[in-house]
Amino acid sequence: NIARAAESSGRRPEDITLVAATKMNDASRVREAIEAGVRYCGENRVQELEEKNALGAYSGAHLHFIGHLQKNKVKYLVGTAELIQSVDSLELAEAIDKRAASLGVVQDVLYEVNIGGEAAKSGFAPEEIYSAAEKTGNFANIRVLGLMAIPPVCENSDENRPYFARMRQLFVDIGAKKYDNVTMQILSMGMTDDYAAAISEGASMVRVGTGIFGARDYGAAK
Ligand SMILES: *Cc1c(COP(=O)(O)O)cnc(C)c1O
Repeated sequence: NIARAAESSGRRPEDITLVAATKMNDASRVREAIEAGVRYCGENRVQELEEKNALGAYSGAHLHFIGHLQKNKVKYLVGTAELIQSVDSLELAEAIDKRAASLGVVQDVLYEVNIGGEAAKSGFAPEEIYSAAEKTGNFANIRVLGLMAIPPVCENSDENRPYFARMRQLFVDIGAKKYDNVTMQILSMGMTDDYAAAISEGASMVRVGTGIFGARDYGAAK
């Protein structure tokens, strides 16, 4: 499906990276997915990532963090997650930069944009993202490689196309500005219900959970 969506928008299948959203699937399910060909895993809770990482869940795959991150948890992720996709404030960027500096590493991140302007979602407002990108020049130990977004929940995958298109425009505009420590290589948007629409609007990375693992069981005891 990803290959078809890529080709129908004039891109190559290999230009799109599939990240399996592994939340609520235990280490053995994650390993099974990796054996079946998953190359990128995305977790959205720090504690769950740590527990599964200790069990070797992600071995052989790239590990991304895709959830809301509190500053006091940064220390568990920097140097462990290859890409933190969900940096939603300059305070968080600064905390990651400090931790990375203390470890002598450079941490790759994406800036998350609250493209639907939803009160319940985190992320930079679209109009804030330029000044955030500009200020990233102050953070020598992070590298912003692109943007991530979670648009509003919708009934029909085409409803989010205007949000995806707006993200693509921000991605191109920011890339053209050549801010220090910022390059626009990754545009992460699209989930199980709308990844094909996201790809046709320019996504280079999609994050799919349900479509790979089936419905999550929120009722199960943890
Ligand atoms: C869970 C999750 C996904 C995947 O959602 P599905 O609808 O199950 O594909 C994608 N992105 C983030 C940030 C998530 O937390």
